[in-house]
Amino acid sequence: MTAALVLVGTPIGNLGDLTPRAAEELGRADVVACEDTRRTGRLLAHIGVRAPSLLVVNDHTEPRAVAEVLERLDRGQRVALVSDAGMPGISDPGERLVAAASAAGHRGEVVPGASAAIAAVVASGLPTGRFVFEGFLPRKGSGRKERLAALAAEPRTVVLYEAPHRLARTLADLVELCGPTRRVALARELTKLHEEVWRGSLAAAVEHCADTEPRGEYVVVLDGAPAPEPASE
Ligand code: SAM
Repeated sequence: MTAALVLVGTPIGNLGDLTPRAAEELGRADVVACEDTRRTGRLLAHIGVRAPSLLVVNDHTEPRAVAEVLERLDRGQRVALVSDAGMPGISDPGERLVAAASAAGHRGEVVPGASAAIAAVVASGLPTGRFVFEGFLPRKGSGRKERLAALAAEPRTVVLYEAPHRLARTLADLVELCGPTRRVALARELTKLHEEVWRGSLAAAVEHCADTEPRGEYVVVLDGAPAPEPASE
């Protein structure tokens, strides 16, 4: 087997979305680097893979894990990297490992799978031709204000990840900066039992969240800013 760092996409809820190639790769890797050994252990058990060696890679351990992964790649091993859900490297650990492996001249491969951002943008009903991924907004401070202001002027569709208990605050901030009529889609619990895509104006979304307490995982898909009026002569 060729030594490589292999980025493996895992489901965002429905285990049926794990691809046969992802299962095959997890089964043959020398080590699976993951965020949470219990969660990945359950996934491996579900596909009938006897847990290979598991290496924890999260925000705290990634710098140390990089050294171990590089050392394993040097020894000719195949290292699969998964996150708790979706694609590694997308609001999840991975970027640093990929950069380090590539800088050290190691082979990288990808087994693509579900990502909440892509699932939400295609289900949103908003323009999919050009979109930007913003991930999680900073929770507070000037960083948040700057990002929100940039998003308000962004002409492309914007994709945001948000925790349920912060959704109302984010929608209220967006109403303030983008105006009440800007269209938005709230894609919730995609691929799971309570999957729902709510669509409407930002003002209606604020009301919707006041009426129905947000629960579960959400992606906010925001319509792009309208083109500016041409300046009159
Ligand atoms: N790596 C993942 C991916 O590729 O989508 C994202 C991981 S990030 C830590 C988790 C966030 O993704 C959640 O807070 C939520 O915003 C979004 N998310 C993940 N699964 C989701 C789902 N089934 N439905 C809606 N949003 C989801």
